[in-house]
Amino acid sequence: MPELLDVIELGNPILRQKAQWVEAVQSERIQTLVDNLLVTVKDANGVGIAAPQVAQSDRLFIVASRPNLRYPHAPTMEPTAMINPQILTHSDETVKGWEGCLSIPGIRGQVPRYQAIEVEYTDRNGKRHKQELTDFVARIFQHELDHLDGIVFVDRLESTQDMITEREYQRILVD
Ligand code: ZN
Repeated sequence: MPELLDVIELGNPILRQKAQWVEAVQSERIQTLVDNLLVTVKDANGVGIAAPQVAQSDRLFIVASRPNLRYPHAPTMEPTAMINPQILTHSDETVKGWEGCLSIPGIRGQVPRYQAIEVEYTDRNGKRHKQELTDFVARIFQHELDHLDGIVFVDRLESTQDMITEREYQRILVD
């Protein structure tokens, strides 16, 4: 049975480490980690979660966009484990949009991200995929990829003025 994992928070040094390339995708450790991340992100109303957020310094994350309490306008997709992910090319255009992070509870920020990216990743069965992602899903990918390099979204803010509390964010949403 998959189990819910504890999500570590900003200040834990693991969140600032560069995660390790995953060599053994099919290993029991990695497969169990994927299963546990899938249930953990769902339980937390997240749209993505990266292995370092559960104190595992491996280059893998889950992208699981769907409307939920924290992101009511998110598009729906099948939750996908992306292992050893990379950005191959990206649009010149960047767009600012709201982000939060399970490791930085209570804070939201308007973060500039590439509008479109071409990415490559290995799925949990070991198959390499090339894919184009746009808008909110591209944003999730860039947010999660940053976690693998020890970067969090508040590092990407253009100004501290672009940061608000979760409570104020929820107030904006209902307007
Ligand atoms: Zn995050």
